[in-house]
Amino acid sequence: MRPEILFPLFAPVTKLPGVGPRIGKVIEGLAGPHIVDLFWLFPTGLIDRSYAPKLAEAEAGRIATLTLRIDAHEPPPTRRLPYRVHGSDDTGEITLVFFHGRADYLQRTLPEGETRVVSGRVEEFRNRLQIVHPDLIAKPEETDERQAIEPVYPLTAGLTRKPLAKAIAGALARAPELGEWLDASLVKRENWPAWREALLAVHHPKAEGDLAASTPARTRLAYDELLANQLALGLLRLHLRQSKGRPVRGDGAIRKRVNQQLPFKLTASQGEALKEIDADMAANQRMLRLLQGDVGSGKTVVALLAMLSAVETGAQAVLMAPTEILARQHFATVQTLLAGSGVEVALLTGREKGAQRKQIFADLAEGRTAIAVGTHALFQEDVAFRELAFVVIDEQHRFGVHQRLTLASKGRAVDTLVMTATPIPRTLTLTVYGDLEVSRLTEKPAGRPPVDTRLIPVGRLNDVIAAVRRAMEKGRRVFWVCPLVEESEVLDVAAAEDRFAALKAIFGNRVGLLHGRMKGKEKDAAMAAFLDGRIRLLVATTVVEVGVDVPEATVMVIEHAERFGLAQLHQLRGRIGRGHEASTCLLLYASPLSAPAKARLKILRETDDGFRIAEEDLRLRGSGEVLGTRQSGLPLFRIADPARHEELMTMAYDDARLILERDPDLQKPRGAALRVLLYLFERDAAVKYLRSG
Ligand code: ADP
Ligand code: MG
Repeated sequence: MRPEILFPLFAPVTKLPGVGPRIGKVIEGLAGPHIVDLFWLFPTGLIDRSYAPKLAEAEAGRIATLTLRIDAHEPPPTRRLPYRVHGSDDTGEITLVFFHGRADYLQRTLPEGETRVVSGRVEEFRNRLQIVHPDLIAKPEETDERQAIEPVYPLTAGLTRKPLAKAIAGALARAPELGEWLDASLVKRENWPAWREALLAVHHPKAEGDLAASTPARTRLAYDELLANQLALGLLRLHLRQSKGRPVRGDGAIRKRVNQQLPFKLTASQGEALKEIDADMAANQRMLRLLQGDVGSGKTVVALLAMLSAVETGAQAVLMAPTEILARQHFATVQTLLAGSGVEVALLTGREKGAQRKQIFADLAEGRTAIAVGTHALFQEDVAFRELAFVVIDEQHRFGVHQRLTLASKGRAVDTLVMTATPIPRTLTLTVYGDLEVSRLTEKPAGRPPVDTRLIPVGRLNDVIAAVRRAMEKGRRVFWVCPLVEESEVLDVAAAEDRFAALKAIFGNRVGLLHGRMKGKEKDAAMAAFLDGRIRLLVATTVVEVGVDVPEATVMVIEHAERFGLAQLHQLRGRIGRGHEASTCLLLYASPLSAPAKARLKILRETDDGFRIAEEDLRLRGSGEVLGTRQSGLPLFRIADPARHEELMTMAYDDARLILERDPDLQKPRGAALRVLLYLFERDAAVKYLRSG
């Protein structure tokens, strides 16, 4: 149960004064659905209204707060001209200018003959002072000394400064004093304010310096978040250690048969990883291991062979993918590799419905199905297993820790293998996964020529189309990835549809389209046609990013490559170069491209090493991009930035360990405060591992 003191903070934002359903929606998109989410939206700038000169002294170019007598209104003679209001003090005159100003509104807010406080950027125009669209107009008695400096928040479409500022002020008014969860000596040493004090300080900057990430207030809040995260991971780890595992040792019969049917030999690192996984599974402890391998390094086969150990003992295994396309592809791969083995495999996504779905559930519950492949549909409550022993989660960072736990709780002493192609730098693994064991696939299967990557200005589109035509004529497949439009899937899709229409006009029926808004069946049809060559050119949004495996694909065109993260481009590029033919990746950019942006893209031309690329990306763009959390909408951290707060993270890690050593169930007084911390940062899932919650 969430502590009562936090209830008001977890109410919907629409409970705040001035936040109706419309603004509520926008705020939800910007910050999150709860009042507490507004706390973590930090100001990025400030407007200093403390400059309050007399008109004679007012300097052009500065933001000034002026106390004016309103002298006369001058409505525009034609609609093309602005509405003007003239004001003065005893030292001079100024004109307030409003384009498309509404007369009734202006007469109400700036009545002739009265005094008003007006704030905005003072300009000089034809030797007269003016302010265009003042951003504050108030009665003298309404102005507030404390408001002389106003924080500026990041805005989004559909939200102006005033309602957002008001909502945040409303949220802050609800911030309670919370018991200190940090170690007193740490707080003292670092000179950190208490939680509430820190929060208020962050939202009421007094000078530019207060906006820096390194202020004591911001650092404290970042530390709080990191500690909550490490504590949650620590609790999970403790839970896994305490709960008994079970030794899973297959007899190797099925695995041997499947191994013989593989059209290739495992690489040395695949063999090594498999050995490590086998040892974990055989141990009397629950496994939690990360299998990290660059795109195309062959993680799926390793996962499948590992799953077979569980199956050989008569237990069940699950393979979970982040997207439906990928789930279907894994399903097809697994089915092919298991053909004739007698192992039953089922596919479960949001699309299997009705009687078919019921049948899948029944087969899983009664153990007729040994392996389930699927999407997050597998997390659902009504999915039960007879004897689930092993869970593989592909591309884990797209799922929350909470979901991982849900799946593990569907079996007894379940072993978990997490697979990721995101070459997370070592500095980040700790934050994201805690200290779980890691196996790395360091080599790629032999015989794959490297992908030739080129940067091409979009002005040379005709050359690109000619190259695409040559590849298609040779029977090769081409991916054409369309630009990512910020925060709008609808616009992404529109761009893809336009490009599809244009390419279809050139290449006819050989062109297909794939995007996230298509119905499942349409997606399947497009993928199937691309796989068997009826479609040679597939125009797609980033849905092809993860995992899709089409060995005949040898060309990838990426439009507006400059808008993508390097790690994401690397993932995309990993979709080609999977067969024996030489492949080409054409990164189209809109010119002019700044020198740093070009240098960034050049990294892709220089290296195919996912780790190096991720390190660069982390350096250049921050952790959210590298982890893909921004795209998947699951920010792991709201305040802390693992790229910048490495030292804090290590501190939080040590701190969490010590806390759990001394008070594993958070029963002591500080423990109670730490529970509040876990809830505050929505690490609730971990709380249920406390013996008395
Ligand atoms: P990942 O998921 O790591 O990106 P996949 O598991 O999808 O990579 O494997 C990529 C491709 O390489 C697949 O077509 C797979 O069949 C093939 N593959 C896997 N292991 C080997 C190997 N040892 N030798 C040759 N090809 C392999
Ligand atoms: Mg894969």
